[in-house]
Amino acid sequence: MLIVGGGVVGTSIAWSLAERGVSGICVVDLDLAGVYASSELNAGGARATWWQPVNVDLCRSTLDFFRAHAALFGFRERGYLWLYGDRELFARALEKRALQNQRGLGVEVIEAGAVHERFPLIDRALGELVGATFSPRDGLVNPNAVRAWYRAEAERRGVVFRNRHYVNGVVTERVGGAAGSLRRVAAVDLVEVARGHPLDEDGAVREALVTHRVSPGSRLGETRLECQVVVNCLGAWSPIFSAKIGVTDVTEPVRRQLCLVDVHRSDLARGVALEELGMIVDASGLYFHPEGPHVLAGFSTPTEAPGFDFDYDGPQFFEAEIWPRLAHRASSFERCGHVRGWAGLYAVTPDRSGIAGRVAGFANLFEAHSFTGRGVMQSYGVGRAMAALITTGRYEELDLSPLDRGRFEDRERWVLEELHI
Ligand SMILES: Cc1cc2nc3c(=O)[nH]c(=O)nc-3n(C[C@H](O)[C@H](O)[C@H](O)COP(=O)(O)OP(=O)(O)OC[C@H]3O[C@@H](n4cnc5c(N)ncnc54)[C@H](O)[C@@H]3O)c2cc1C
Repeated sequence: MLIVGGGVVGTSIAWSLAERGVSGICVVDLDLAGVYASSELNAGGARATWWQPVNVDLCRSTLDFFRAHAALFGFRERGYLWLYGDRELFARALEKRALQNQRGLGVEVIEAGAVHERFPLIDRALGELVGATFSPRDGLVNPNAVRAWYRAEAERRGVVFRNRHYVNGVVTERVGGAAGSLRRVAAVDLVEVARGHPLDEDGAVREALVTHRVSPGSRLGETRLECQVVVNCLGAWSPIFSAKIGVTDVTEPVRRQLCLVDVHRSDLARGVALEELGMIVDASGLYFHPEGPHVLAGFSTPTEAPGFDFDYDGPQFFEAEIWPRLAHRASSFERCGHVRGWAGLYAVTPDRSGIAGRVAGFANLFEAHSFTGRGVMQSYGVGRAMAALITTGRYEELDLSPLDRGRFEDRERWVLEELHI
């Protein structure tokens, strides 16, 4: 069984399959250190407060798992505070609260006038707010620890991880006779990537990944792996694999930037205990949370064009997007400074939900990718559900059929998420 992509999703699936007693599992990845994996470049937010039942359920099961092993995963149940400035959006969020609270999330509504009293950090531009919600069971997690744990447990059960193996081609064959259009993946061609290649000196990987080429003249090993079952877990890179088997993918890679912010402790307004806070999502779209001695902040630039872009804009990102929004909402951030930042890829689908299931037209091909900003907080649930589907042919306690890619043929079946940051 071949899992293509050893990010948090592929690794969780590998572990879940191994737990069910499946043997002969191999995970291949271009770079298991995760230089280009969203799993190593994200914000560590973990919430179940979404608007679509399948997303709530996947996150809820994953958060329950994180909570049960909180020390292992650095899970801190500090909640998400969501500030709203738009009346219509706030009204819709209140409607969705019924679904969330039916599922035990205990989401509270905070009147605009009570936000400062409850969260003393929020002390500016209060008149712009129309209200807020606070979801106390959400929180923060250490995503690197999560992926490392899935991997260690998978390896303990015999899963083999092949690092620096780049999927270069897919061999398919027809099965099922003339009447059937069913195909199967017969083998996957891998190129063994030497250290430092094809990631060039400044870390650019575009040529190799986008055009699927390695430079001529390099002496790199090539392997062909025969496959009984293949699972595409390539995150934002998944469309490249899909194209190789003739499936048109709707996923787009979109750059997202984060930065660490230095906050002077002496600048904190009265009553502010920064380290006790969870994630705060501002009405402006800015999100931030305490991260060690700093604050981790992100903002998704609305004009960002799709592409495999890992370049971080540097202090300019902080000056233009982060600091003005922080200081607009909280006097404690008036004098804060830029520490460092980075960029990673969101795998964005038209309805901003992931894609999971069996790939139509193939006898032995599955996929689980494109979890936009949700892959870590859904990783456990996706692993469990996909392992059930692959081994028994059907979903068990978690039904991911709403995330089947066939939904994009019918807008009525889209799994549209709006509180997407
Ligand atoms: C800035 C940012 C903030 C985020 N914040 C959060 C958050 O707070 N909470 C949350 O839950 N999620 C968050 N996310 C999203 C989350 O990180 C992703 O959804 C998740 O990591 C996706 O995991 P994955 O395993 O599907 O993909 P990835 O982690 O991207 O793994 C894909 C793997 O495929 C490998 N690969 C690519 N091409 C090939 C090839 N041809 N051959 C072999 N290997 C290949 C790559 O090396 C990579 O390791 C954030 C993402 C970003 C970028």
